[in-house]
Amino acid sequence: MESVAERSSSQALLQAARATPASVLLALDAQGRVLGIAGSLGLRLGRSANGQALPLADFVSANCAALLQGAPEQWGQGCLDLDFICDDGRPLHTRGWLTATRDGWLLQALDIGDLIRHQESGDLRRQALLHAGQAAEHLRLASAAMLPQVTGELLEALALRWRVPCMALALHMPGGQGWQVYAQYRGHGAPGLWQEGQRLGQELADLHGRAPQRWSWSQLSQHPRLFALLGDGPAYLVPFVELSGISGWLFCAPFEPDPHAALGDSEWQHICAQLAGPLLARLRELTQRHEGGRLEALQGLLGAGWWEYLPASREVLLAPALARAWQADDQGRLALEGWLQQVHAADRDEFRARLRAAELNGQGFTQCLRLCLPGTQESAIWHRVQAQVQGTATQPRIFGFLLDISDIKAQEASAAAAHARLRNLIGSAPAVIYVLRYEDGALVPEFCSESLGPMLGWSLAELQQGGLAERVHPDDHEEFFARTRSLLREGQISCRYRLRDRQGNYHWLLDEVRLLRNELGQPQEAVGIWLDVTEATQAAERVRESEERYRILVEDSPAMICRYTPDLVLRFANRPLADYLECRPEELAGASLGAWLSDEQRQTFQERLIGLTPEQPVSTAEICLHLPGREHAWWIWADRGVFDEHGRLLEVQAVGRDNTEVRKAQQQLYQGAKMATLGEMATGLAHEMNQPLNVMRMAVANVLKRLASDEVQVDYLRDKLLRIEAQVQRAARIVDHMRVFGRRSDVEQQLFDPRQAVEGALSLLSEGLRGKGVDVRLALGEQAFAVRGFADQLEQVLINLMVNARDAMLGKKEAEPDFAPAILVGLEPRGAWVELRVEDNGGGIDPRLLEKIFEPFFTTKPVGKGTGLGLSVSYGIVQQMGGRLSAENGSEGACFRIALPLFTGASAQDDELADGPDAAVSPELTG
Ligand code: ADP
Repeated sequence: MESVAERSSSQALLQAARATPASVLLALDAQGRVLGIAGSLGLRLGRSANGQALPLADFVSANCAALLQGAPEQWGQGCLDLDFICDDGRPLHTRGWLTATRDGWLLQALDIGDLIRHQESGDLRRQALLHAGQAAEHLRLASAAMLPQVTGELLEALALRWRVPCMALALHMPGGQGWQVYAQYRGHGAPGLWQEGQRLGQELADLHGRAPQRWSWSQLSQHPRLFALLGDGPAYLVPFVELSGISGWLFCAPFEPDPHAALGDSEWQHICAQLAGPLLARLRELTQRHEGGRLEALQGLLGAGWWEYLPASREVLLAPALARAWQADDQGRLALEGWLQQVHAADRDEFRARLRAAELNGQGFTQCLRLCLPGTQESAIWHRVQAQVQGTATQPRIFGFLLDISDIKAQEASAAAAHARLRNLIGSAPAVIYVLRYEDGALVPEFCSESLGPMLGWSLAELQQGGLAERVHPDDHEEFFARTRSLLREGQISCRYRLRDRQGNYHWLLDEVRLLRNELGQPQEAVGIWLDVTEATQAAERVRESEERYRILVEDSPAMICRYTPDLVLRFANRPLADYLECRPEELAGASLGAWLSDEQRQTFQERLIGLTPEQPVSTAEICLHLPGREHAWWIWADRGVFDEHGRLLEVQAVGRDNTEVRKAQQQLYQGAKMATLGEMATGLAHEMNQPLNVMRMAVANVLKRLASDEVQVDYLRDKLLRIEAQVQRAARIVDHMRVFGRRSDVEQQLFDPRQAVEGALSLLSEGLRGKGVDVRLALGEQAFAVRGFADQLEQVLINLMVNARDAMLGKKEAEPDFAPAILVGLEPRGAWVELRVEDNGGGIDPRLLEKIFEPFFTTKPVGKGTGLGLSVSYGIVQQMGGRLSAENGSEGACFRIALPLFTGASAQDDELADGPDAAVSPELTG
C-alpha cells in the first residue's frame, strides 16, 4: 500500500516534472531515500521507486556517493552535480538542486553530459596543443645531433597518446635531398611501414591537398604506390603547409581518427605544424650553415668571394675572404676609391669605366685585373672580376664575384714561355715539324715549322696542292707514295726519301709521321718530322764503301788475316788463310787455331796473348804450325788485341805471312855454316882423332913387343887393353858428337842448358886449341839454367867465337912468340837472362871495325881463310833464340857476350833438360 507520504511525494514529483524541463526528477524522503523517479532520462536509471526506497547514494557513482552523507539538508546549499549510473552501466552526468517538499525533498537534475564532454574535449585539445607547443620548444632547443632522436621520442609520445599504431614524419628535406621519412614510430606488434631516412618519391605528389586526408583501404588499393607506403589499413595523412607549399606530412597508419574524438583535423594539423615547422627551420638553418661553411671554405681556397657596389654611398662590400686581401674594414666595407687605388694602374681605368657602365647602363662585365698590394710583387696577384646588375634602373644592385687567378695566370705565363721556347726550338731545329690534314684519303700539308725555309727554301704554300710530291726525287717516288698508304694503315711510319730544295739540290730526309685519329677512329691529321740526314746518309754510304774496300782488301790480301777470341777460336778467316789450311773460310769460323799448334807452341802462343795490354796491344812472333800430312809451316804472325773499357781482351786480330821458305833457307844457311865449321875444323879434328889413335898404337906396339919377348903378363895385357878401350870410347864420342853437330837442327826449339853447348863446342875444339898452345879456361859454375832454342846452333855460335879468338891470338903469337894465348869461357846469370862470355887476349878488334864485324861477308882475314859469315850467322842464331850477341874490347882482347832469356815458364824444365838428346857430356872434356 502506498503511504500518504509516498503518495504526496509522487504527486509533488509529477507536478515538478510538469513544471520544469529537468531531465530527471527524484522524490526523496526526509532521509534522502528515493521515493520516485520521473523525467525524460529517468527511465535510463532503470530502477523504479516501487518497492523498497533505496538511498540516493545507491544510484550514483562512488565518488558522488561521498557527497550524499547524512540527511538531504546536510548535502550542501548550491548545485548538486551527480553522476547517475544508468542501467546499461553508463554514467549520466547531471546538475541538480534540492527543493524541500512537504514531506521530503525533490531533486531536480538536468543532463549536463554534453557540457562535461565539451569541457573534457576542450581540456584534451588544450592539452594536445600544449604538448605540441612543448614539442616545438624541444625541437628548437635540441642539439643538431639529437634532433632525430628527439623527434622520434615526440612521435612516440604522440602515437601512444592518440593510439596510433604507426606514425612517421616525412619532410621535404632542405639542401635538395628531396622527400624523406625523417622519424617514425612503430607500436608493439604494428606493421613496419617506414624506416628513418627512407627516401620517398613520386607517391607524395599524389597528395596535393592542403587538408588532412583520410584514406580507406579501398581508396589505397587503387594507388599502388601509396598502398606500398601506407599499408593495407586505413591511413590518416596530415600535411604541413608553408607559403611555398606542402613541406611535411605526418603519416598515421593503420589509423582512422574517431569523428567524435577531441582532436579534429585542425588540431592534427596544428600538431603536425608544431613538429614539422621548427624541425624544418632547424634543418634549413643547419643546411644553410653547412653550405655557408662550404662556400666560405671554397671561397677561402679559391681566394674568391662576392662583392657588391653600393652606388648610394659609393662603397664596396666584400666577402670576408676578400676583405682581408683588399684591406676592407671589419664589416668588409671599403670606399670605392680606396678599392680602385688597390687595382694595378694598368687595369684601373678600364675597371672604373666598366663599373660606371654597369651603374648607368646595367651592363655586366668580366675583367682580369691585378692587385697591387703594398709589399707584394707587382702583378703577382691576378683577379678575375665578374659583375652583374640587378634591380631597377634607378636603384641598381651591382654585385659579382672575384676570383684569384694568379695560379692560372702564372701557368698561362709559363705555358706561353714554354710555347715560345718550343716555337723557337722547332724554328731553329735542323728538322721540319709538319702537320698534314686528312682530306678524303689524302694528306694535305697544313703546317710546317719555320725551319722549312732555311732547310729546303720552300714555303708551306709551295708544298701544298701536290707541290710536295713534285719535289720528291723520281727514284724515291715509290717509297714516297707508299708512305701515305702505310701511314693510314699502320698509324705510324718512318721512311727516307730525297726532296729537292730551291737550289735544285736533293736532301735525304728521314720522315717520321704519326697519324692522329678522333674518338671514332677516323684519321684526323698526321704530325711528322723531317730530319735532314743527307750528311749522315752520305757518311754511312762512305763507311759502307770503305768497309767494302776493306773487306775486299782483307779477302784479296795475300796475307793471312783472321780474328779470333782469346781462347784461340776463330771468328773470321780470309781466303788465303783458309787455303793454306786447306779448307773453306766458312769452315774455319768456330775452329780453334790451337788445333794446328803443338802443345808447347800453343802454350807459348797463349802466354804471348796474356802479355797484350791496351797500352801494348801488338805482338809479333814467328809461329810454327803442324799441318797434318805436310811439312811444318813457319808464319810471321802479328797480333793486335781488341780490349773492352775494363782492359779485358775481347778479340785478337791477326795478320800472318808464310815464312817457311825463308826459314828453310835460314836453316840451310845455318847448316851450311855448320858444315863449313866442321870443314874448317877438320885439321883440329884430325888432331883430335889422332890423339887416341896414337895412344892406341903405342899400346898395341908395346903389347906386341912384350908378346915377341914372351914377357906377357896378364895384368899388363889387361891394363893395355883397358887403355885402348878408353881411347876407343873417346874417339867414338868425338865422332858421335860430330854426327850430332852435323845433323840438321830440330824443327822446334827445345829447352837446354847453355853448358851443353859449351861442352859440345869444346869436345870438338879443345884438343885442337891445346895443340896450338891455347889455354882454355872455363868458369861455368854449378848452377843449371834453361834456355829455349837449338843447342847445336848455340854450339855453332861458340865454335865461331872461339875459332875467331884462336885466329886473333895465333896472329898475335906469330908476332910475339912468347905470347901465351888464353880463352876464357864464362857463364853467369843476369836477372832474367843468362850470359855466356867468350873472352880472349888476342889484342881485340879495331874500334873502328866494331860496328861492322856482324855484317855478312865482313872479314879482315886473308882471302881463302875468312868468309866473313861467322859472326853474321851467329848474330842471327842468337837473335832467333830471343837473345843478343854483342862485342867489345876488354883489357887484353875481344870479349863477346851472348845474352839469352832464361826460361821460367814450365815447372817440368829440369826433367826436360835431363832428357835432352845432348844431355850427356864427357866429364873428361869439361874437367
Ligand atoms: P871471318 O872469321 O870469316 O873473318 P867473322 O864474321 O867470324 O868472319 O869475323 C869477322 C871479323 O871480325 C874477322 O875477320 C875479324 O877481323 C874480326 N874478329 C872476330 N873475332 C875477333 C876476335 N876475337 N879478335 C879480333 N878480331 C876479331
